[in-house]
Amino acid sequence: MLLNDQLIGEIVQKVMAELSSSEENTVPVELSARHVHLCQEDVDQLFNGTLTSERELSQPGQFLCAEKLRLIGPKGIIDRVAVLGPVRKESQVEISMTDARTLGIDTPLRQSGDILDTPGIVLASPYGIISLEQGVIVAGRHIHMPSADSTRFAVSDGDMVSVHVQGKRPVIMEDVLVRVSDNFKLAMHIDLDEGNGCGCINGTSAVIMQTTDL
Ligand SMILES: [Zn+2]
Repeated sequence: MLLNDQLIGEIVQKVMAELSSSEENTVPVELSARHVHLCQEDVDQLFNGTLTSERELSQPGQFLCAEKLRLIGPKGIIDRVAVLGPVRKESQVEISMTDARTLGIDTPLRQSGDILDTPGIVLASPYGIISLEQGVIVAGRHIHMPSADSTRFAVSDGDMVSVHVQGKRPVIMEDVLVRVSDNFKLAMHIDLDEGNGCGCINGTSAVIMQTTDL
């Protein structure tokens, strides 16, 4: 049977509506490579007091620095590690679980900023070398979200959500922290281990699952 024009029109409209509504519900995924945040005192020792912005990052005010660091652990070293600006109150090193094995540092999974009782590490630059007492973490997966989006998604700051990540090997990721601030741009951050595990690239879409989906 041939479909008549009206029926085809209705089907097209329905499909378009579904596509656009699913588009509205997506969060772009960004992969976070290993990186270091430094306090001013550590910038003084490692880079003579100044960080140089090389390019802006997607989150407003954050930038990738021209300066690079060597991470030194008991079992291995990792070179040319990115430094992100601006300076923070405390230095923090964010690595993947693969990096943790390479360095030989038993690294806990923490959200950024939660570094009490985390392991330390040695950081070296061409100008200096310091030993951090603490601050090495595997960063917990999270979504940066402006408040308008949190209303749209019906989630609040501090919520843990499950997210369908639509990479080449799609997965559902649980325990994704929602962080709401109008200083943020909408993006989900996962590390390279997680991103490679599900075949993600920057800009891969993720959909926040409602509790009824689970
Ligand atoms: Zn982030």
